[in-house]
Amino acid sequence: MPGFDMVIKNGMVVDPSQGLHAKKDIAVAGGVVHSIEDHIPDGDARDVIEADGLIVTPGLVDLHVHIWWGVAHLAIEADPSSLARGATTVVDAGSSGSNTFPGFRRYVMERVNTRAYAFLHISGMGQLDNDIGELEDIRWARVGPAVDTAKANQDLIVGIKVRLTEGIVGANDVVALERAVEAAEHIGLPLMIHIGGTHHPLEEIFGKLRKGDIVTHSFTANAPGIITDDGKVIEAAVDARKRGVNFDVGHGAGSFSFKVAEAAMSHGFTPATISSDVHRYNVRGPVFDLATTLSKFMHLGMSLDEVVRLGTQAPAEAIGRGDIVGSLKPGAAADVAIFRLREGPVEFRDARGDVRLGDRLLEPVETVRAGRRFSPFHAAHHDHTPPAGF
Ligand SMILES: [Zn+2]
Repeated sequence: MPGFDMVIKNGMVVDPSQGLHAKKDIAVAGGVVHSIEDHIPDGDARDVIEADGLIVTPGLVDLHVHIWWGVAHLAIEADPSSLARGATTVVDAGSSGSNTFPGFRRYVMERVNTRAYAFLHISGMGQLDNDIGELEDIRWARVGPAVDTAKANQDLIVGIKVRLTEGIVGANDVVALERAVEAAEHIGLPLMIHIGGTHHPLEEIFGKLRKGDIVTHSFTANAPGIITDDGKVIEAAVDARKRGVNFDVGHGAGSFSFKVAEAAMSHGFTPATISSDVHRYNVRGPVFDLATTLSKFMHLGMSLDEVVRLGTQAPAEAIGRGDIVGSLKPGAAADVAIFRLREGPVEFRDARGDVRLGDRLLEPVETVRAGRRFSPFHAAHHDHTPPAGF
């Protein structure tokens, strides 16, 4: 009998999709998880990863990234920024629109080793430029072409995206949102909206969202935000969450504030998913990667199991791919992330420059994608080095 393609041995397997947190071996065959057992003989396996002392999770699913390198102004390359850092699946959040998606698909999505999906921007141009907003001219927001493109690419397009910041959309936020909802309705997929600095109040914006839609940059400090002046969560956000709207993190370069997250979470307003919004302007800090973003939420009081759930199973289900990724159930893709949970002082910085001193950091050690190994391209960031003597 031929052996397995790979056995990952002795790791502490944390897979919330199975309620699993235990020392296990994982066998991989044909690019999928074959089995998870206390002990799997590896004598005939083609590759063996020794994970003793390490955390083994489903490959992370980053619900908000930008990977159309060379076209979208903020984009970076997927494999070094995501796959090599533990995120085996990413969702590009609107770098492309109907005018530009075919190129994104052919030259990036079909070529990278990272498993890539996309929210299609309602603006046909996607996110080309940092200074000229993609919806300042609302003619770019065309429902028909977005629907046609999404229908023709159902394997990779998992929803519609719209950015509603005034510098990007002027005073057109509500009309842009209405067109984005209309397109999402036509294709029966979720809409992801980007908040922070909208022209209209969030009450008006959240009122238009449907069950399964996603608000990214939930913990932005750019007004209007979800926290009132006296530190409570606005009712429109609480109501939307009750209706089944998913509040996502989308840390980004300007869109995550510890103060806002701390205020929201003190009222039980935790995120539905944790994403990085890693891009050119934050990959060297303060975001670095999704694993660091998850570590920040451990610092904010969430358990390891909970942050792993919000970075694997929850985003996979949010895009309707929970049967393929975000889980190590037998039959799921053999996408696996292996981390060292480094204990010691860690300086975490938010998008406002506020600092928190944490004591645990998930450091990517090895990533497996469909049964193939990918190692991190670079070591942990400099400013996470513990002081001498620790
Ligand atoms: Zn973004």
